[in-house]
Parts: sequence; C-alpha cells; structure tokens
Amino acid sequence: MPLTGIGTIHTSTISLPDVYCIPKLHINLASAGQICDSGCFIGLFPNSCYVQDLKSKRVIGTGRRKGRGLYVLDELHLPTHATTMPVNLSSFHLTHFSSKFYLWHSRLGHVSGSRLRFMCNTGVLGDLQSDDISDCSGCKLGKFSALPFNLSTSTSSAPFDLVHSDVWGPAPIPTKGGSRYYVSFIDDYTRHCWVYLLKRRSDFVHTYVEFQAYVKTQHSAIIKCFRADLGGEYTSGDLSGIFKADGTIHQSSCTDTPQQNGVAERKHRHIVETARSMLLSASVPSEFWGEAVLTSVYLINRIPTSHNSGISPYARLFGHTPLYSHLRVFGSTCFVLRPHAERTKLSSRVAICVFLGYGVGQKGYRCHDPVSGKLYVSRNVSFIEHVPFFSIPPTSHGMTKSDLIDIDPFDADCPSDSTSISSVPSQSSGKVP
Ligand SMILES: [Zn+2]
Repeated sequence: MPLTGIGTIHTSTISLPDVYCIPKLHINLASAGQICDSGCFIGLFPNSCYVQDLKSKRVIGTGRRKGRGLYVLDELHLPTHATTMPVNLSSFHLTHFSSKFYLWHSRLGHVSGSRLRFMCNTGVLGDLQSDDISDCSGCKLGKFSALPFNLSTSTSSAPFDLVHSDVWGPAPIPTKGGSRYYVSFIDDYTRHCWVYLLKRRSDFVHTYVEFQAYVKTQHSAIIKCFRADLGGEYTSGDLSGIFKADGTIHQSSCTDTPQQNGVAERKHRHIVETARSMLLSASVPSEFWGEAVLTSVYLINRIPTSHNSGISPYARLFGHTPLYSHLRVFGSTCFVLRPHAERTKLSSRVAICVFLGYGVGQKGYRCHDPVSGKLYVSRNVSFIEHVPFFSIPPTSHGMTKSDLIDIDPFDADCPSDSTSISSVPSQSSGKVP
C-alpha cells in the first residue's frame, strides 16, 4: 500500500512520532516494538494494557482488549526524549505540508522562482499556485554566485552549427565509478547540453568521438564548428585528424579573452550550482556528485531559457515540449520493486533506495541501495519525496527497522520486468543524459 508521508501526531489523547500516513489503510496501528524502542514498557493484561515511561516511571498510556489479539489505545503520550530520533527534515525544508510550488522547485533542481512562475503560466506543470521560496536552504547553500553576462556572440542558425565545450575537474573526490572530470558539449543554437564523466582528462578524445557519433546518428548532423578553451586535451594530433575528416572548424578562444568561451563557462556554473543545491538540500554525500551533475543537465535542458525566448533547450532541439510529470526530488527516499530473480523467501519484495536521477536509453529511475551496493534502473518505484534518504537514521539504511521494511508501496499485481541491476553506479560510462 502506498505511503504518502511521515510525521508526528499530537491530539488531546495521542502524541506519537514517526507516524506513517498510508491513505488506503483504514485502521490506525501502533507498533509495540516502536513504543518499546522509545524507552517504554508495555504491560498486557487479559482485558487491558498500559504503557509506562521507563525513565520517569509514569504511566503514559492506557488501553483495553478488543477481540482476540488487538488492544485499543485510549490514551498514549510518548515522552519528548523519544521524539528526538525521527527523520531530520530541518535541513531539507521540503515537508509533507510544503506547497506544490516548492515541491516543483525541488524537483527541478532548485530552479529560480521567476523561471518556475514562467513555467506555471505556460501550464506545463498543471495547476500550480505561486509561493514564496526565498527561505529554501538548498538554494542558500548551493548558489552563491551571480552568473556573468553572456559576452560571446553566437552565429549559429541551426543545431550543431557551433558546439561549445569545456572540461571541468579534477573533483576533490572521485565518483563511485572513479570519475574526477566531466566534459560538457553545448549546442549554440538550442543551448542543449550533454555531459560525460571522465576518469582522466586524456579520455576527452575518445568522448568527443562518441559525441560526434551520437550527433551523426541521432540528429543526422555534422558538427560544423567546435569552440573550446586551449588545453592539452583539445590540441592533440588525434583530435586534429578527427576534425579534418569531418570538415569541422576548431576555434580556440584566445588566452587573454577567455570570455569568448562564455557559453560553456555559464553552463558550467549553472550545472555546478544546481548540482550543489540538490546535494546539500538532501544531505547526499559528495561522492554522488557525478549523479547530481548528470541530473542537473537533464533538468536544465528541460527548463525554459531566455536565449530561446522562453523555450527549453529540449523543446528547441526535438521540436516538442518535454514531459515533466515523471520528475522527482533528487536524493529522496524511494522503494524499488526487486526483480524476481533477486527475491528470496527471506528478503523483502522492495529495496529502500536513494533516488539519483533518470535513466538514459532504458527509461526509468536510477535508484541506489547503499546496503547491497546495487543500482536499480526501474519504473517500479514509489517515492517519499519529502524525506531525504540520507536523513533517515542508519538503522533504516540497514533495513533493520521492521516498520519501514514492512511497507509494501506496490500493488500486488505490479509488473517487475522493467527492473535491471548493475553492481556499481555506472557513472563512468558517460551516457548522454
Ligand atoms: Zn531551493
């Protein structure tokens, strides 16, 4: 049954932390194990029960027996020291009660309020009321610079007339796949961007060949002009030969006017600030920076830009508006239906994972289970978007918290064929987002 939220309940008779909201469940259940874990003792008698706080020795709850095995609680107030262990939502600011506007702000990589309002007005996000998002912690932590003005003049009149490129790195820590760099390719005409993760700078030539093949096959185009800063990775003999074979003109920006490559520089800052906001707002460890960068580019390509008079790079390149309904909050907690081959009598049907972005080629959500180290690319995913995965206490990562593992967010007849597994996040494979 789908879980839609976690929170605390306070009424005149009941005070309970860590309460799961499951709309389809028509009875309110309290876990005896969870109450005992909060430092309490439960006394069960043939016709009644009571709950005692072991610290204060006070009786904090009473109830009566109903039927064969159920006890109905008339009153229960768990002590405040027991309510300090639940999920920490304060660093995230997105809660179950947040506005839809703020939810979409988070889903779209902390997009600016003005741009989100513009998207609302076009109707692509459904019925959405504007809200104040100036207090968003992710934005405050992740975005600290004003983007420079665009000083480069573009002369392109069709996709791939001019492609800007830049290599970023080395990152202070490698991704799980061992990458320390990323290279961006930006189409000047549409501003659509592609990013590949690299282990070494010298992998650039190989990656350029891969991108060039993608452009030829998927867009029936040749890169006419390639603009990039001077650097060892761009000036090798191999690359000159590749340019010559295609008739591609290579433009280097002069060393004293680096703003000539302003398009790549601006895109880089947009990508990094979006990725940083997503990582920090959901407390995702830095080693997942590669996933954050790939997701940033995926989102930025779908957000309208003033360069295209309010059309997204994706829409300008592919000629139709992208879908938005599948977008979810990066770093949030999700449940993935395990493939049949992986299920045993003892294991749960679902794996509790962190959501790390969108599949490419094979459509689906990229979900990582840190316990098994597996990366699932699956469509059978259920999300708790306002609960960042890495804010859950470690016992939940280890799937020992029985109340979390017992949640089955899927309908019984849900298909499972579209789930595939790889042992390590394939960040280094450099798939085009
Ligand atoms: Zn934000």
